[in-house]
Amino acid sequence: MKKKDCIFCKITNKEIPKDFIYENDNFVAFLDDNPRVKGHTLIIPKKHYVNSFDLPSSLGVELLDIIKRVAEIQYKDKKIGGFNLLQNNFPVAGQVVMHFHLHFLPRREGDGFTFFK
Ligand code: AMP
Ligand code: ZN
Repeated sequence: MKKKDCIFCKITNKEIPKDFIYENDNFVAFLDDNPRVKGHTLIIPKKHYVNSFDLPSSLGVELLDIIKRVAEIQYKDKKIGGFNLLQNNFPVAGQVVMHFHLHFLPRREGDGFTFFK
């Protein structure tokens, strides 16, 4: 897929309107359109990086900070009990959108979500 056709670039460029839970210079976080659990959030870089190989390692520390920030927001506002992080790399691993994204999956007692079946 070409960068100009990338749906997540259109979101970060604000060509497609989207409410951001969090935004800074390098990343945004917003709710997934097809939530696997309540509050399912995607954290994505503003620049087009395809996957973990492509994402500069220098952004890793900042990404961890944003994970913590999104968790704080969700603990406070949505009263979650915990969370899972999932990041698919390449289609064989389930990556559909070829712009790096980290799934933040809020967890609540009895929500029935399972990672490993
Ligand atoms: P993955 O399988 O890891 O590539 O996941 C892509 C995720 O992006 C899926 O969970 C989709 O529901 C989500 N998604 C795709 N397009 C949008 C969009 N425009 N807004 C919000 N979430 C989206
Ligand atoms: Zn992109």
